[in-house]
Amino acid sequence: MLNQPMVRRSDVAHNAPDESLKNIYPLGEQPPLGYIPSQMYAWTLRRDRYGEPQTAYQVEVLEIPEPADDEVLVYVMAAGINYNGVWAATGKPIDVIQFHQRQGEKEDFHIGGSDTSGIVYRVGKNVTNVQVGDEIVAYCGRWDTNAPEIKEGLDPLYSPTFRIWGYETNWGGFAQYTLLKGYQCLSKPKHLSWAQAACYLLTSATAYRMFYNWGEHSIHPGDVVLIWGGAGGLGSQAIQIAHTVGALPIAVVSDSTRADFCMSLGAKGCINRTLFDHWGILPDWSDTTTYNKWLKGARAFGKAIWEIVGEPKNPRIVFEHPGEETIPTSLFVCDTAGMVVICGATSGYNASLDLRYLWMRQKRLQGSHYANREQAQAVNQLIIDGSIDPCLSRVFSWEELPLAHQTMYENQHPSGNMAVLVGAQE
Ligand code: NAP
Repeated sequence: MLNQPMVRRSDVAHNAPDESLKNIYPLGEQPPLGYIPSQMYAWTLRRDRYGEPQTAYQVEVLEIPEPADDEVLVYVMAAGINYNGVWAATGKPIDVIQFHQRQGEKEDFHIGGSDTSGIVYRVGKNVTNVQVGDEIVAYCGRWDTNAPEIKEGLDPLYSPTFRIWGYETNWGGFAQYTLLKGYQCLSKPKHLSWAQAACYLLTSATAYRMFYNWGEHSIHPGDVVLIWGGAGGLGSQAIQIAHTVGALPIAVVSDSTRADFCMSLGAKGCINRTLFDHWGILPDWSDTTTYNKWLKGARAFGKAIWEIVGEPKNPRIVFEHPGEETIPTSLFVCDTAGMVVICGATSGYNASLDLRYLWMRQKRLQGSHYANREQAQAVNQLIIDGSIDPCLSRVFSWEELPLAHQTMYENQHPSGNMAVLVGAQE
């Protein structure tokens, strides 16, 4: 760890001019440790460009922000690609720039990026957990540490001040420098490259909370766990966490390559969802013919689970995020007294369920959102220990950042998690 004095170009000009220092550095040319140029390159979104990621993102030159007393300025080496960057680009379900402005932020642009690896370059005076030179990964939860409910010990995820950095807040990781609260800095696993380190924390921490935050429904050895999108960012982490515990993860995928990938991570078996056609909003229960057709599809899907388990045992936990298309089936196949835990809705927001299965079988439908710092630290430790692989699938160059998001938008992205290089060369 180095603790060098902070220098800015303006300070240098005043004292001893050093012509080797620049106001802005090209991508990949790292400024001396602790030296902060005045400007940086950043991929931005603006309201008049909301739409498909390929055109919504553009590079701009921006002034580098000053960290507040409880913040650090981090030189970004690599940034993770995840759905936040897709949703932000489209302006749906929220207009992130309008969201920031309603909270008093003045910028009329958004710098996304909720996963990052980098080097601490400047430290606010109240930050004690990191120093200049520390190599970190960013935990993307932010909140007001002075909020009364947080001071009283409430999980910050339940505070009205909780925000996802790089989505609900500005100055995310898609730039040469990013602003983090001190508590957002976690240790970078030493054995990982910058791109590997940037790709996993959002998805792995979300999966960890889904499995461990819900009391009696926490994951146990021997549990059958159904994991939608098993080859995706969340799914790849969820399979490994479940496997590590000794549970039986069953992955749902849409092709055989993705199935092979899930098996390599420890899935007990895989179900190809394209072999079924009963997806979407439930038919009206009083329309017996159509409803029974749906029921036949859902039962066949449940049977596919039993065949993998080797006995008629239903999932005690269903790990949900596709949402509208799959939630009726998730609730149907979930075991009596089991839990469907959901953190997103890629296919749509209207959840339809047959309430008879919910109350008669006493199932739980549980919302879950990201993770608190302790949960992020716990899963980061699993990565540091090598118990979980971040599953970096593809590394994009800086110029390819819009392409990376477009690929995800079209569900054409490879299995696992993706990253884009910012300061790092590989
Ligand atoms: P991802 O890498 O794209 O994986 C999602 C997978 O879901 C896809 O690979 C796809 O796999 C599957 N899928 C897509 N459409 C589907 C459909 N209609 N029916 C069934 N499966 C479908 O994305 P991710 O990073 O895992 O994120 C997934 C969702 O969770 C996103 O909506 C994201 O915003 C949300 N999320 C929320 C949080 C949170 O904190 N609340 C955190 C992370 C992610 P197959 O085609 O192989 O089935």
